[in-house]
Amino acid sequence: MTKRGTLPDVIDRLEPKERRGLIVVITGNGKGKTTSALGMAVRACGHGLRVCIIQFMKGDLYAGEWDGIKLLDCAIELHATGKGFCGIQGNPYPWAEHRANAQDAIDLVHEKMNSGGFDLLILDEINNAVQLRLVDLEQLLAILRAKPPLMHLILTGRDAHPEVVELADTVSEVNEIKHAYRKDIEPQPGIDY
Ligand code: ATP
Ligand code: MG
Repeated sequence: MTKRGTLPDVIDRLEPKERRGLIVVITGNGKGKTTSALGMAVRACGHGLRVCIIQFMKGDLYAGEWDGIKLLDCAIELHATGKGFCGIQGNPYPWAEHRANAQDAIDLVHEKMNSGGFDLLILDEINNAVQLRLVDLEQLLAILRAKPPLMHLILTGRDAHPEVVELADTVSEVNEIKHAYRKDIEPQPGIDY
């Protein structure tokens, strides 16, 4: 067995009659939204797609994907922006600073989206950013409308706006059945961040 496991010798690949860029929304209050998007990034990499991930409200606390992506040695570019979750207990930064950071991230989204350099763009926690008014709904809708037809766009975060859901092709709601934090178990590296 190789270090990276075993794979079958013969691999059949499906090719759709028509390639289309999809809008995918992963929302809901359960655990698994960001990691679902990261899973699609890894899958996309295997198909040779070029991936850009822009994380909103995440620049303050280390997350394993920052280095995990480097270790994968694949075509994923990741930008962690912001200074943590706006409004969460213990976050010391004023709303205006969160808003300014999110607005810079929106500029980055347009830059990456229009660069022609990416086949999949992931906007992690963008739904929360809209809900918290760090990003205007109109700004997100403008991104959806301006999306290059062949580029996939994945939007994560709780409280996806109904108008965003309406425009999306695939929408999943991750519901909490249980979460360890309810038993006062601290977030665990590799699972929670
Ligand atoms: P993941 O990043 O694991 O896919 P997620 O994107 O669905 O989770 P978020 O709402 O972005 O979840 O929360 C980020 C992290 O915080 C998750 O790893 C989750 O386990 C943890 N978490 C979610 N809700 C709570 C909570 N109420 N209290 C503490 N930790 C939570
Ligand atoms: Mg998340």
